Amino acid sequence: MAAIQAIRGMNDVLPDQAAYWQRVESVLVELFGLYGYREVRFPVLEKTELFARSIGADTDIVAKEMYTFIDRNGDSLTLRPEGTASCARLGLQHGLFHNQQQRLWYLGPMFRHERPQRGRYRQFHQAGAEAFGWDGPDIDAELIALTARIWRSLGITAASLQVNSLGDAAARRAYRERLLAYLSPLRGELDADSQRRLDTNPLRILDSKHPATQAVLVDAPLLRDHLDQDSVRHFEGLCGYLDEAGIPYEINPRLVRGLDYYSRSVFEWVSGELGSQGTVCAGGRYDTLVEQLGGRHPVPAVGFALGLERLVELLTLGDNENPSGVDVYVVVLDEAARLAATQSAEQLRDRGLRVQQHCGGGGAKSQLKRADRSGAQVAVVLGEEEISAGRATVKPLRRDAPQFSVGQEKLAAALAKFFES
Ligand code: ATP
Ligand code: MG
Repeated sequence: MAAIQAIRGMNDVLPDQAAYWQRVESVLVELFGLYGYREVRFPVLEKTELFARSIGADTDIVAKEMYTFIDRNGDSLTLRPEGTASCARLGLQHGLFHNQQQRLWYLGPMFRHERPQRGRYRQFHQAGAEAFGWDGPDIDAELIALTARIWRSLGITAASLQVNSLGDAAARRAYRERLLAYLSPLRGELDADSQRRLDTNPLRILDSKHPATQAVLVDAPLLRDHLDQDSVRHFEGLCGYLDEAGIPYEINPRLVRGLDYYSRSVFEWVSGELGSQGTVCAGGRYDTLVEQLGGRHPVPAVGFALGLERLVELLTLGDNENPSGVDVYVVVLDEAARLAATQSAEQLRDRGLRVQQHCGGGGAKSQLKRADRSGAQVAVVLGEEEISAGRATVKPLRRDAPQFSVGQEKLAAALAKFFES
């Protein structure tokens, strides 16, 4: 019988990689808290209508990427392709926006039926922060500062920030007509995807990576020249705050987002180290989404989502030491040494050291090989000789230092000293 494989585009995380995931996740949890954002959790499945109504029927996500099915009751359900719509739904349903402002975050798997490739999967993970109830650009700047701090904490240096303003709905409608008037006669010169978008979502043509399409776009009208005055002021405000905070950015007049609910500020962080899927974080303002989902009052909002697979890849590309190893490996050379070994291991764990105790017997050579593979800094060796003397042998595995012998009752203190030095 053929062995069963995972679904294409859906990844397993193996133990060596899990350590990087944990590192990313713990930094995110810590930094969201540092800025006063609070976690929310929502189901992986939602009614299809939630995404159709918010993301937009003519977007790639809704038109061709969603995992949608009819359940046993005949209801159309969809595996969530992103988190913002659910976050807004959650806030509305539980009255969180009623005369209140909210800073929220979430983290978890998302599902899109895309063509799998490096950095693009069918199950992937996003962490996002969303701020509901503020309309000024100061909160947009706060979210961007939060993302900048995430890169700093993770030691990621090669990400650069692009910002743009999409204006309000009327400005986008007017610009859409101008863009269509410019592009329609040139239809034949566009790539196939962009030709399709001409009929569905022409603004999305602006961020096509296709060289032929890029060439056509050189003389295209710019959204910047069609913005409403309020959006211009809002955008200038945001740029001012970024300048003040010393966060470098580039204004990219062609930056648009793939989801219909965005308005005004949009931004992306792009890394040059990830090949063609270089965007690690994307976000923007979505002032009309809550009303679109049935809210009775407008709730201005802004947020971002970052892709965890791409962050993890950046970490593994860097020089970071894989943090998955233990500190100490306890070698048990003789059955008579087993009890003392277990007790020593527990005492070291009491002190916060990560300890793997050898199980299953075997000679000194093979046990020390395993100690090396465990990533431990030191092996603690306990055999007949050590037991009768009440001592333990400590063998440094990664430093050029001599092994030494220590009384079992002083082992924990001796190792603490060793790890400090
Ligand atoms: P693109 O134009 O690249 O398809 P998008 O507009 O679909 O991007 P968002 O929905 O805003 O992107 O997603 C935010 C972030 O989530 C992306 O910048 C990326 O880091 C990550 N992401 C999105 N889709 C995928 C995927 N299929 N696989 C892995 N990560 C993804
Ligand atoms: Mg996409």
